[in-house]
Amino acid sequence: MLIVQKFGGSSVADAARIKRVAGILAETRRAGHRVVAVLSAQGDTTDELIEKARELCPEPGGRELDALLCVGEQISVALMALTLESMGLAAVSLTGWQIGLSTDDRHGAARIRCIDTARLNRELEAGKIVLVCGFQGIDDAGDLTTLGRGGSDTSAVAIAAALHADRCQIYTDVEGVYTADPRRVPEARKLEAVGYDEMMELASLGSQVLHNRSVELARRCGVELEVCSSFVRAPGTLVTEPMERTALSGVAKDADIARVTVRGVPDRPGAVLELFQLLSRADVNVDLILQSGSPDGTGDLSFTLRSADAAKVQAILEEHRAALGLRSFALDPDAAKVSLVGAGLMDAPGMAVQMFRALAEAGINIRMIASSEIKLSVVVPRAEADKAVRAVHQRFFANES
Ligand code: ADP
Ligand code: ASP
Ligand code: MG
Repeated sequence: MLIVQKFGGSSVADAARIKRVAGILAETRRAGHRVVAVLSAQGDTTDELIEKARELCPEPGGRELDALLCVGEQISVALMALTLESMGLAAVSLTGWQIGLSTDDRHGAARIRCIDTARLNRELEAGKIVLVCGFQGIDDAGDLTTLGRGGSDTSAVAIAAALHADRCQIYTDVEGVYTADPRRVPEARKLEAVGYDEMMELASLGSQVLHNRSVELARRCGVELEVCSSFVRAPGTLVTEPMERTALSGVAKDADIARVTVRGVPDRPGAVLELFQLLSRADVNVDLILQSGSPDGTGDLSFTLRSADAAKVQAILEEHRAALGLRSFALDPDAAKVSLVGAGLMDAPGMAVQMFRALAEAGINIRMIASSEIKLSVVVPRAEADKAVRAVHQRFFANES
């Protein structure tokens, strides 16, 4: 079999952990499989590199930040190759550009275009354990790019798809995908399997266990993912297309959002367009949007965005409030979104009531609500987000554990 195994930052954080991962790779190889390992930067290396850049430049980004961040993954693969060689195993470390992982030129959020599998296949043919830097690629101009935070999962899936691998295993620091973050909700239960759709929602709504783009790519390319622990040998979670969908999959939290409320949006065509056009030109990603009419004919509008964009949006609104004809606006920089995900939400309207009751009984104020086929999200004060997750989890998953 050809197996792609991805190891996240905590799995390769120090020498002891690198040795442990080397042991897993050796075992896979000795079992007769060909193996490509995709590695992340060690521990908090990527954060530390960003911090280093910030000491010298207030807003690092673009080509040079990518050039810096790519270093983190290179350290991991080189150290792993040296470890495996010292164990008497043939290994080779390869960067994103050495495997021809070509991307567009959106630095910090690059999209994968294709992978030239020639080098990978050559090294596999030679019987080597192939160690590849996750998270990085190269654009048409020959410049280094990165895929966005957490992007090594997506590198692994892309490589598995390009090589038509038999398996793609995502090794991390928990035993699989749980009904909630097991570090914050101790009673969370490990899922044996989860559907691509539900996993994509969970990942997009804040469950960082998988990069959301990796799940989308896996579904599109028919790559089945297995999420498991690099510390505990136990069956993990299969991310796949289930025969029948389970009612509820989990609760996710995104504590990285801000909420804006605008009062007195003029009652005329184009008023909302002008506001959101300004935000879009400034590259602000708006998530939930709620609009309601006021008795005086004007409207109120609330929307959420990434916390990192809050200051930018505040400045835009201050500058353009009068020209846009808005009465006032308020920014809540400390919001969070808590979401219940599951195919069962589609045909069970009572679920919303149960979720609101759980939150009310926990004394949590709901600021916004949004729902779609398989998710129900509420915006709550960030300080209460964990409490909200536990309350919702308790309501819907308590009997199962
Ligand atoms: P890696 O470094 O291996 O990529 P991440 O830190 O990106 O690991 O993802 C693993 C973390 O995801 C876990 O430590 C856990 O705290 C968090 N997490 C959030 N939600 C979930 C969930 N539903 N199931 C499992 N882990 C989750
Ligand atoms: N090292 C990168 C990050 O910290 C990519 C990854 O870990 O997946 O975001
Ligand atoms: Mg990750």
